[in-house]
Amino acid sequence: MTGCDEIRVELGAYALGALEPEDAQRVEAHLEGCDRCRAELEQLSFASDLLRMPAALAFAADPEADPAPVEKALAALSAARIGEARRVRRLRLGALTASAGLMVAIGVVFTLGTRPADHFAPTGRAMALQAGNGFAALASVRLSARPWGTQVDLRTERMPPLPQGAYYEVWLVRTDGTRVAAGTFRPSSPGGRARVRLAAGIPRPLVARVGITREGFGPSVRVLGAAA
Ligand SMILES: [Zn+2]
Repeated sequence: MTGCDEIRVELGAYALGALEPEDAQRVEAHLEGCDRCRAELEQLSFASDLLRMPAALAFAADPEADPAPVEKALAALSAARIGEARRVRRLRLGALTASAGLMVAIGVVFTLGTRPADHFAPTGRAMALQAGNGFAALASVRLSARPWGTQVDLRTERMPPLPQGAYYEVWLVRTDGTRVAAGTFRPSSPGGRARVRLAAGIPRPLVARVGITREGFGPSVRVLGAAA
């Protein structure tokens, strides 16, 4: 089995999906048997998820976050970038640019994480979403009334892995059945975890249901939902 040191320098590129398939397989084989490297990956994946999101979803940065994990992720990324520099010819074009962006994303998390007041702390109660269509995913959502509409704070576990180009979309459904998109996300892999903050321009009292669908890969599929 490959050693932790060798894996750690590749985790940053792996979190960005920038490793060649055979290198990614080696990393995955190690992650299966190593809790510590999996924990490192989860922190890196959180930052790389931010990178993949549209700018409107930058609120995914948790304002209440403890900055310590961010500092750890930053240190791990520095190590990852040294590793990437050694392997630059084997990485797909754009990986280093993406890494630079990842550093910026972590900076954003850190800045938001240390500001004094959180004007977006959720006020709604936590609701569990029910998985449908044979999925075993878990999700909890809090809907908060805002002057501009409804804030959606979502946590997921065990979301099914997504093919490249696919994503999950969060919907708020009105009592008359029409729906408004709150945003899209891709959970970290492995684990299917995500913690995102989304927004929809629909007053909270008009929201009858919350739903999550898989998009961008074949027909739209309902994965989770609940009455709101
Ligand atoms: Zn390890």
